[in-house]
Order: sequence, then structure tokens, then C-alpha cells
Amino acid sequence: MKQVEAEPLGDVEAVSKAFEQEFERFARFYASAGEQSSAARGEGVSLQAAESLLRDLAELRTKHTGKKSELAALKKIIGRVSPADRAAFAQSVQALEASIVEKLDRVDETLKAFVQHERIERERLDVTLPGTRLRRGHLHPVTLLRRRIEDIFVSMGYAVEDGPEIETDFYNFDALNIPPAHPARSAHDTFYTTDGLALRSQTSTVQIHAMQRRRPPLRVLAPGRVFRRDTPDATHNPMFYQVEGLLVDRGITMGHLKGTLEAFVQRLFGSQTRTRFRPSYFPFTEPSAEVDYSCFKCNGAGCSLCKGSGWIELGGSGMVHPNVLRAVDIDPEEFSGFAFGLGIDRMCALVYGLDDIRLLYESDVRFLEQFK
Ligand SMILES: [Zn+2]
Repeated sequence: MKQVEAEPLGDVEAVSKAFEQEFERFARFYASAGEQSSAARGEGVSLQAAESLLRDLAELRTKHTGKKSELAALKKIIGRVSPADRAAFAQSVQALEASIVEKLDRVDETLKAFVQHERIERERLDVTLPGTRLRRGHLHPVTLLRRRIEDIFVSMGYAVEDGPEIETDFYNFDALNIPPAHPARSAHDTFYTTDGLALRSQTSTVQIHAMQRRRPPLRVLAPGRVFRRDTPDATHNPMFYQVEGLLVDRGITMGHLKGTLEAFVQRLFGSQTRTRFRPSYFPFTEPSAEVDYSCFKCNGAGCSLCKGSGWIELGGSGMVHPNVLRAVDIDPEEFSGFAFGLGIDRMCALVYGLDDIRLLYESDVRFLEQFK
């Protein structure tokens, strides 16, 4: 075998130089271990560019470390170098190979880590992107007022009761001592189903259910919808909200009724609020009274809200009629009670300064949004 007599170490240097020249464009990705992906990101390379660089890098590896590479040629001549130089030559060829492979591997790692990272980023759902925000609703003004009323009576020991909106004649009229010929029973005033059931025309029906279910002593508050055949206008609607109160116990007098309603309006409108009772008539109470409270706007001096009178009508009230107690088998000789009812809608219109009660039922968001 012919020995290589030339400068074999000079060949190693030439091969190294040739590699370094082509490796230069990858040198910026030759980061220290653990920083691979950030090194590439720091260079502002796109995913596409990184993928292209990886392909070029593979070509570079084949060219400089493959079977037909200059490096392979150097390895082949190791055995032909003179024995005196062989060890040094072999060492420098090995060192060169190790250096080339290490550089290629490191850049390969860096670019691959970057590509993988970018692909995951691209496919990941970005939870920080602003989504379609759900608009949060709020309570209707009638509900807001109803809850305030409920809170006041619950604090006075009343239980909030619910009842059906469709009733038989017994609950809507008979048990409430409304005589057969009373105009409230006519189809002119009350909505009837084809089966002869009535849409309740007052929440007093709940009184009857409550007294049948629990025996006295009892305190119940019944808020709910009622229905009357009224033509809608600024102060009337065929459906509206009432709240009814009932207390039955031994020795209950008109004084308890007055005290209760006065405490109620003072809690709702302030301690300066006064009440007055005007004699009235309702079939289910005896004696009966209309209740007014001093105007919360002018405190009784007279203003446009109270139409100059200084008083605002609260609703009807009275001592439970003995016939109503008898209808649910309560002995009027042993028990007595009072009842009152008021319209939530009209009070709501007054409190919020509405000039038309129908605004409360039109579901116009522009209107309702004002009561957040
Ligand atoms: Zn007033």
C-alpha cells in the first residue's frame, strides 16, 4: 500500500475550513444546551423558514459526514499515513469528525425543538383571546320592589306563600264572601277559561289556601300576578302584581292592622312616613279601609306625584270577614285577623317615577337597563 507522504494535517484543516464556511449560516442556532428553542425564537425565524433550514442541514450532514464526503476520504487514508504521523493524524481526523457532528446535532436539536414548539403554539387554543362576552342580566324593577316588600314582612314573622293563578269559583269568590250576583264575578271583569275556571282576580285566593293548609295562628304574605279585564292605559294593565298579607290569631284588632301597615311604609319610605285610613267596603273584610301613606316625595306638602293631596293610596285592608273564616272552618268567635292588599306595579311606577305602567311589561331593554 502506498503511503501518504504529503501534509495530511493540512488536509484536515482544509476539510474543516470547507465545513465551517457552509456551516456559518447555521452558526446562530448553535446555542448552549437547554436553550435550543429560545435560541431559534430569538432569531425571529418563522416556522416555515426553520423547516427549510432543517432540510438544508440534513443535506449539509450528508455532504460533510456521508460516505462520499471529504471527511470519509480522510478516514480512509489514516492507514496509509506513515506510522510516525498516523496517531496524530487519526486523532485530528476524529476530533474534526466529532466537532462537525456535534455542531450539526446541536443545530438540528435547536431547530427541531423550535419547530415542535411553534406547531404546538399554532394548534393550541388561545384562552387569553377575548371571547364573546355574555351580557349579564339583572332583576326586573317589579321583582326588586317585591323583594324589598317581602324582606320587610319576613322580618315581621310572615311566611311568603304562593298559589295557583287559575282558580275555581270557590277560591276566587265563594270563600272570599263574594256574593253570587257580585259584578266582579261577571265575564266583564274576570277572565274565564272554557271550563269555567277563573284567572285569579286577586291574590286573596292564597289566603284561603294558606288557612286550609295551616291552621291559625298564621302570618302569610302572598305576592303574585292577578288578572282583570281592564283596558290597558297609563295606570291599568290586564295583568299586574299584587301582594296580599294575612294575619289570623286570637285577639287581633284594627289597631294591629294600622300598626303593621305603618311599620311597613316607614321601613319602605322612611320613618317620617304617616298613614291614614279611609272607611271602605270589600266583601271579604269587615270593617274595611283604604290605606294611604304620606307622599315620599313632598312628605305630605303636596306635589305633582301625589297630585297635590300629600297622600298616596297604598291599597285596601280590613278585618277578615267572619264568613271568610267560617269558609275554612276557623271559628270567628275564637280567632280574628286582618288582611291587606296592595298593587306592586303602581307603587313601582311611583317609586321609579314612571308615567306609564305599561313600560313595565313591554320588555324593552332600553327601559329595563335603567334599573340595574
Ligand atoms: Zn307629594
